Amino acid sequence: MHLEGSCHCGSIRFSVESAECVPFMRCYCSICRKTAGTGGYAINLGADHRTLKVRGKRHLRIYKATIVEGEHVRHSTGQRHFCGVCGSALWMWDPAWPDLVHPHAGAIDTPLPQPPANVHSLLGSKASWVRVEGLEGDQCFVEFPDFSLKEWHQERGLESHVEPAETARKPKKPARTTAPGKTAKGKRAVPKAVSKVA
Ligand SMILES: [Zn+2]
Ligand SMILES: [Zn+2]
Repeated sequence: MHLEGSCHCGSIRFSVESAECVPFMRCYCSICRKTAGTGGYAINLGADHRTLKVRGKRHLRIYKATIVEGEHVRHSTGQRHFCGVCGSALWMWDPAWPDLVHPHAGAIDTPLPQPPANVHSLLGSKASWVRVEGLEGDQCFVEFPDFSLKEWHQERGLESHVEPAETARKPKKPARTTAPGKTAKGKRAVPKAVSKVA
């Protein structure tokens, strides 16, 4: 599906091809809810970074979060792109998964399909005042779910057709899937305490 998106002030407009465009994945982590979801969570889509086209690039700003877990401090490799003029959160891109980009559903102007169900993730980081609301049968995870955006779409036959990127056809260096010597640990943790929303 071809997605068009923009910030609120219009300084930045972008388009991207997305196979995973059903806005079902709610992330309640502190980074998402503070930077992109004041209702308690942000919704991230999956798209092909090689097809991302941006107008107004000079207004783009990048936020790299610092994550404090007790004594342990680490720096998120995720690059959260936002508009330097109006502050709208636009997309997240992580150099560890260079072909993927995660546009925030709220920045998309193209009408998105309504999700048949939601997934509530990172509930361990949820703000206390946020009530987990959604549809019957929604899945809840304290940490990351044990499936990817792609797998969720594939299992339901909801993957959208994507026009191949011109750059994707060019020969290129093989993409790294994880940083050398590192696993995706922390990115896709084992889910705990799976429950359903009544
Ligand atoms: Zn703006
Ligand atoms: Zn998050």
